[in-house]
Amino acid sequence: MDPGLHFWLRYVERAGGLAERSGDGTLVMLPEPLADDLDLPAELVVTSDPDVAREDGTVLLTTGHPVLIRAADATLTDGDAGVLALAEPTTPAPVADQLQERARDQFPVDHGRIDVAGLPRRITRPMLRVGALVTYSVSAEESYQESVECWVDALSRLPLSGHAASRLQHVPLAARPGSHRAILPSAISAIGEAHRILDSAAARRRDALSEQASDAHRQERAHARAYYDDTLRSLERRRAAAAPDRAELLAARAVSTREERTRRLAEIDEKYQARHVIRPFRLHVVAVPGWRVPLDVRRGPRRYPVERDWLPALGGYADERCPHCGAAAPLSAGKTRLGCVRCQSTASSSSTAAAP
Ligand SMILES: [Zn+2]
Repeated sequence: MDPGLHFWLRYVERAGGLAERSGDGTLVMLPEPLADDLDLPAELVVTSDPDVAREDGTVLLTTGHPVLIRAADATLTDGDAGVLALAEPTTPAPVADQLQERARDQFPVDHGRIDVAGLPRRITRPMLRVGALVTYSVSAEESYQESVECWVDALSRLPLSGHAASRLQHVPLAARPGSHRAILPSAISAIGEAHRILDSAAARRRDALSEQASDAHRQERAHARAYYDDTLRSLERRRAAAAPDRAELLAARAVSTREERTRRLAEIDEKYQARHVIRPFRLHVVAVPGWRVPLDVRRGPRRYPVERDWLPALGGYADERCPHCGAAAPLSAGKTRLGCVRCQSTASSSSTAAAP
C-alpha cells in the first residue's frame, strides 16, 4: 500500500474512524467531526491506485493529497510524547559468572581486569527516543524535508546504535506501565543531548545537500560577475573618449554599478545560504528494566568500584562514559585512579614531560 495512504488510514483509525478492505479499495467510515474537518463524506472508498480510482465514487488518495497533508500537519502539531515501559524480563538475572564474563568482553580494561563484586539489583534505565522533521533549504527555490530520529541513553548521554534501537523497538511493552516518575528528571536532562545529536546530523546532511546546489551557485555568481565586468569596461571605454562633463557623469555611473555589483553578489550568496530547521514531533521516554551490577576494576592490589547496568532488552550492558573525563573510550586502570585510554595516556605523557 502507498505509505501516504497507509499513514492516513492509521490516522483515521486513531481518530475513531474505521477502515476495511473492500474490493480493490478501502472502505472508510469517518466520525462526523473528522469528516467535517477533512471536508469528506462520512463514508467513502479510497485507493492509491489510479486505475481503481477511475471507478465511480472511489477517491484517489496518495502522497500529496490535501487531506493527507492535513493529517500529517495535525500529527506533527499534536506531537507524540509520553512514557513507555518495556515488559519486565521473564527470566532472572544471569548468574555472576556470566555477568562477569560479559562485563570483561564488553569493557576491556587497559592494565586491569573486571570482577563482579556483589549481587545485581533491579533498576529501570531511561532511554530517550526523539523524532523530528528537518526542513533543509539549500537555495531560494530548493528545499527538502526529511524525518530524523535518535535514541539516547539518558544516564550516560550516549547515543544508541541502530542495532540497539531496533532491539528496543521490538521488545513488548509492559501490560501496566506503572509509575516512572523517578526516571523523568534524568530523561528530561538528556533532551539537550538528543537535540545536539539531531542538529549535528542535520548540519552534515545540509552540507551534503548544499554541495549539490553549489554548482548552480557558482554559475549564477560567475554570470553576474561577467555582466557587471562587461558593463564597467564599456563605461570606462566611453569615459576615456568623452568630453570632461560627460566623463564625470560616466565615472559616477561606474561607482553606482560597482555598488550594485556588490549588492547583487550578496543577494546571490544569500539565496544559496543553506539552512535547516528542526521541528521535533516525538519524545518517548522508554523505561528499560535491567539489573545494576557492582563490579571492581582491579589492577594488582588496587580496586576501583564501578557499576554497570545489564539490560536484557539489549542482551548486554549499557555503555558508559569514562568515570574520570567523560569520554566514550575504553577503560584504563591507572596506578592512582580509574580513567580511560584517552585521559590516562595524556596524564602519563604530561607527567613524563614534567619529570625533567
Ligand atoms: Zn577518561
